Amino acid sequence: MIVRTVADLRRHVRGWRADGASIGVVPTMGALHDGHLSLARAARRDCDRVITTIFVNPKQFNNPADLLKYPRSEDADAALLATVPVDLIFAPATDEVYPEGFKTTVSVAGVSEPLEGRMRPGHFDGVATVVTKLFGMTMADRGYFGQKDWQQLQVVLRLVRDLNLPVEIIGCETIREADGLAMSSRNLRLTQAGRGKAAVLYRAITAAADDIRAGQSDRMAIREAAETIRAAGFDRVEYIELRDAQTLMPSDDPASPRRMLAAAWLDGVRLIDNIPV
Ligand code: AMP
Repeated sequence: MIVRTVADLRRHVRGWRADGASIGVVPTMGALHDGHLSLARAARRDCDRVITTIFVNPKQFNNPADLLKYPRSEDADAALLATVPVDLIFAPATDEVYPEGFKTTVSVAGVSEPLEGRMRPGHFDGVATVVTKLFGMTMADRGYFGQKDWQQLQVVLRLVRDLNLPVEIIGCETIREADGLAMSSRNLRLTQAGRGKAAVLYRAITAAADDIRAGQSDRMAIREAAETIRAAGFDRVEYIELRDAQTLMPSDDPASPRRMLAAAWLDGVRLIDNIPV
């Protein structure tokens, strides 16, 4: 069932809550793949009712061309979600989410600022604002997010703690193609040649993480990974960083959980990935 308005969504949710059903929400921007479906399946296992939202959120696109190019495939998405299955798809129009007069921004300081936050100004304000709204609209007990977008997951965790939102956040593992490339809607924009090289990003950061665990210096391992990625034919390595897994601040303490995060351009497509170290 596809629902377009907040009023309709609320009608369904109120009925479910009156029956004592638990509700899980899986926020997405559509163009669904197995990564998204793994979140929906996790929600299906944990919750009595599952909502998937499909909303290409203009506020989280710092680049207007990227918003215009963003793939949209609602019928195919609905067919994929029917295989899970989910109970409801919430796919509102932009002005249903941001009606005339909308003026509020949710902004998470600290964890939003480095890496993706620095490269994509305003991106995490857009994410935090829409996620807060989706939690309010769906009244979900649990929200499912992918580790693929590690920094986003940390922003959402911080947001929920700071605002006492009554929702539990579940971070789900990154689903990868057979060669290791993290699934992403943006992979569809790669040329065939680009697709052949794309998994080098994951392989290079995995090798760097292995080297660091084996005692190599963080800087040396990261420099080698960047060289490998460039040598494979990527246009540009935007960043490869080893950070505290929660705060995303620089961390040279191997005893605390750390995450290696990377962004690189291939075929004019921006790919991101991250792994534990
Ligand atoms: P998006 O539609 O790209 O905004 O993604 C919606 C949700 O799916 C986010 O929580 C993403 O982190 C998650 N997601 C996207 N790709 C993957 C993947 N390959 N594995 C796991 N989760 C993913």
